[in-house]
Amino acid sequence: MVVQVKPSSQQSKTMDGAQQKVEANVLLLGAENVGKSALTVRFLTRRFIGEYGDIESIYNHNDKVDGREISFNIWDSLYPQNCETTESITEKQLQWADGLILVYSICDRSSFDVVRQQVHLIRQAKKTSGMSPIIIVGNKRDLQHRRTVSSEEGRLLALSADCGFFEISAAETYHGVLLVFHELLDLIREARALKKGGAGFKGIVRSVSAVFGRKRAE
Ligand code: GDP
Ligand code: MG
Repeated sequence: MVVQVKPSSQQSKTMDGAQQKVEANVLLLGAENVGKSALTVRFLTRRFIGEYGDIESIYNHNDKVDGREISFNIWDSLYPQNCETTESITEKQLQWADGLILVYSICDRSSFDVVRQQVHLIRQAKKTSGMSPIIIVGNKRDLQHRRTVSSEEGRLLALSADCGFFEISAAETYHGVLLVFHELLDLIREARALKKGGAGFKGIVRSVSAVFGRKRAE
C-alpha cells in the first residue's frame, strides 16, 4: 500500500525567495527483511523500534544540511512477494526517484543478490533514472557472527556500478543512517548541477576539497 505519491520536483523557493529549498525524492529498495523500514524510521525519528510491519509509505522529512533547508520525500518500498527481480522495480518508482538507497543484510546472501540485480536493472533504465545516484547499504553490521557477505564484496559491487557504499547497523546507531542520507543528498545535488551543465567549476572544487579533506583526516 502506497499512501502518498508526490510528483518529482527539483528545487522550490522558500517564502522570502532569498534561498532555495532543496527537494529530494529518495527511494529505498532491496529484499524484504533487510531493514529498509528500520533505516527510514531511524532517519525520521532517530529511533529503532524493532518491528515495523509490512507497510509501504512515502514520508516527508524537513532537515537543515549545511545551513540549507532540505525537504526529503522518502519512499520506503515493499519487495513484492513471488516476483522475479525484473518486476521488483516499477517505472513509476524510477521516474519519481532523484536518488536510491539499495539495502541488503550482511547476513543474508540472497538479499545481496537482489541488490546486485536491482543495480543492474536501474543502470540499464538509462532513459529514466539510469544516471540517478545510488547508495548501496549493507545493514545489520551488528550481527558480525552471522555475516555471509564480506565488506569487500559490497564495496566491489558499488565500485563496479558507480554507487556509494556504506555498511551500517540501523539497530545500533543513528549516525551511519544520517551519513547515508546526507551522502545521497550530495550526490543528488551534484547530478542536478551536472544536468544543468554548470557543474564544471563546482565539481573541481569538490574534488579538490575531497582530496585535501581526506589528507587532513589521514
Ligand atoms: P524491511 O522489510 O526491509 O523493511 O525490514 P525491517 O525494517 O522491517 O526489518 C526487518 C527485521 O530486521 C526487523 O525485525 C528489524 O528489527 C530487524 N533489523 C533491522 N535493522 C537491523 C539491524 O541493523 N540489526 C539487527 N540486528 N536487526 C535489524
Ligand atoms: Mg519494510
